[in-house]
Amino acid sequence: MVDHVSLIGGGFSNCYLISQENSLIIVDVGSSEEVKNILRFIDKFPPKESSSILIMSTHFHVDHVAGISYLLDKLHGAEVAFHKKVRGFMNGKERIGIPPVLAWFGNLPPLYFQLNRHVPSILEIRKDNKVGIPLPFLRRMVSVRYEVRHWLGDGDSLPGAPDWKVISTPGHTTDSLCLWHEKEKILISGDTILNMHGNGELNRFCCDYSEIKKSFTDLKASLNVRSIYPGHGSPIRFGNDLLSNVAVLK
Ligand SMILES: [Zn+2]
Ligand SMILES: [Zn+2]
Repeated sequence: MVDHVSLIGGGFSNCYLISQENSLIIVDVGSSEEVKNILRFIDKFPPKESSSILIMSTHFHVDHVAGISYLLDKLHGAEVAFHKKVRGFMNGKERIGIPPVLAWFGNLPPLYFQLNRHVPSILEIRKDNKVGIPLPFLRRMVSVRYEVRHWLGDGDSLPGAPDWKVISTPGHTTDSLCLWHEKEKILISGDTILNMHGNGELNRFCCDYSEIKKSFTDLKASLNVRSIYPGHGSPIRFGNDLLSNVAVLK
C-alpha cells in the first residue's frame, strides 16, 4: 500500500504533509516554531515547481493554526483552506466554543504533560497568529493577516487532491473536521480522535460531548479505517476497522 502521509513531529500538535503528484497539502501547521520543521522537510523533499500547495486545518485552535502567517511568508503561492464555520469566527459573527470548566481541569493537563515536548518561547509567540484560543477573554481575538482561499464543507474534496474528502465531525469544536482517503482508508482525525494510549480515544476536551459521540458513531458506521493520523499522539497504521478499537467515554 502506498502511504503518502508524512508526520512532521516534534511539536505539541501533529502536522501532516500529504504529497501528491501535483500538489502538496499541509495539514495543521502548528506554531511558528513547528513551521520550521515543516520547512526543513520541504527543503529535503521539495514538491515539483508546478505543484500547488494547500494549507489546511482540522479546526481553528491555536495549537493547529498559529504558524500559518509565518509559513505563508516562507512558502510563496500557498493557499489557505478552512472549514466554512471558521468564516464566522474570522468575521466576528460567531464565537469559538469553550469547553466546560471541568474539561479544562480534567482532560487538558494530562494531555499537555504527556506530550511535554514543546513549550513555546516568548519570541515564538510573537511570530504566531493569536487566534483560536478557547478562553472566555481571548476567544474573540482574530489577528490573521492572510486571505482564506477555500471554504470547505462536509463532503467537499480538497482542492488539488480530489481523493481526499472533508468529513465534518463537530464536538471538540463546531468546525472540527476529519480528512478521509477512501481508496487507502486513511483518516486524518484532527482533535476528534487522539491517540495517547495506543488504540486511539475520542477527545474528552470538547465543547459538546454528545455531539462528538454522534460524529464518531457516524464515522464508525460508514468507514473501515486502516490508518488513523490523530491531532495529538502517535499515528496508528495499517490495521483493519481501527475505529472499533477507539475508546469512548460512556
Ligand atoms: Zn483542538
Ligand atoms: Zn489540538
